[in-house]
Amino acid sequence: MGYKIGLIRGDGIGPEIVNEAKKVLDHVASKYDIQFDYTDILMGGCSIDVCGEPLTDEAIESAKNSDAVLMGSIGGNTTTSPWYKLPPDKRPEAGLLKLRKSLGLFANLRPSKLYSELSGACPLRSSIAEQGFDMLIMRELTGGLYFGERYTRDINGVKTAVDTLSYNEDEIRRIAVKAFEVAIKRRKKVTSVDKANVLDSSRLWRSVTEDVAAAYPDVELTHMLVDNAAMQLVKDPGQFDVILTENMFGDILSDEAAEITGSIGMLPSASLNETRFGLYEPSGGSAPDIAGKNIANPIATILSASMMLRYSFDLNREADAIDNAVQAVLSKGIRTGDIWSEGCTKVSTSEMGDAVCAEI
Ligand code: NAD
Repeated sequence: MGYKIGLIRGDGIGPEIVNEAKKVLDHVASKYDIQFDYTDILMGGCSIDVCGEPLTDEAIESAKNSDAVLMGSIGGNTTTSPWYKLPPDKRPEAGLLKLRKSLGLFANLRPSKLYSELSGACPLRSSIAEQGFDMLIMRELTGGLYFGERYTRDINGVKTAVDTLSYNEDEIRRIAVKAFEVAIKRRKKVTSVDKANVLDSSRLWRSVTEDVAAAYPDVELTHMLVDNAAMQLVKDPGQFDVILTENMFGDILSDEAAEITGSIGMLPSASLNETRFGLYEPSGGSAPDIAGKNIANPIATILSASMMLRYSFDLNREADAIDNAVQAVLSKGIRTGDIWSEGCTKVSTSEMGDAVCAEI
């Protein structure tokens, strides 16, 4: 079996962490007799340096010709890098926005898991942290308030700003289907988060979600108001499996869910479209402060590769093997500097990649 993987190494720590994820993928390939063919795709600051723009049409074509894309991170130091003297649409991040748009990536998946070995980094009370949590936020990415009509005008002599929050039933249905499909592969529980006591868009969200749920009798659906969800995330995060929500609520809640793990270098993410294609990347940025030092934590990128196997290629056994290997490495006390604590063994980026391979 063969799969075409586009590799965006990007900027900063990007090349270092992608190299380790590729090392793990190659290890999985030889162990399970799978073929991965890689194509390098330039995006971000490195593309500006070579091609004069953050993402070329050829790069978009390469991504479209891949079964999935694995990305490190893009961007530089936003104060000192010459990339940030360019107009906004020529900067590194513009490449990522253009790629997401070109590929129609409407579903953003952000798992947030607290490993018991890292519970000391969790900012919540220890009685809560000790319970652990393992949730995934399914955020709608291309609709809602961030994409609606907006303007600022003088109305009757008063300056007035308007942003429009709109969703149609098709947009809601396709993200709800993704949430249920993902929930089937997890603990079969979807919490749909909305503000249905106030917003029409939320009332439509709720009714379409219930409609979709009827096709998934094995998955339990509950609804929760967004203000309550924000509280429950810090009070009892262990109750959540898949949280399904619209763009702005998801933007806010996914950062909250990431923060309560206390370790950004551990968190993968995925953005999917209607096909099996996906863009997989760590939740963190390019960390220019530690780039080139072989000290970045590659686990978020390694886990992003695992998500790619699970959600784009349906290679669940192989994805489990990677997830279990990461767990085993943590249990042995092997840590990069960002998650290191007294009594653990501090390793470099490449040593962490080797350690994960050794457990597969
Ligand atoms: P950042 O996530 O890059 O760094 C924040 C802090 O977390 C830094 O101290 C960094 O050293 C640390 N960190 C991040 N990832 C780490 C890892 N894997 N291992 C160990 N430590 C890690 O955020 P920032 O400093 O605000 O942004 C830096 C650049 O990254 C900017 O140009 C920003 O635009 C870009 N960025 C890119 C993406 C992306 O590619 N999707 C996302 C966020 C930020």
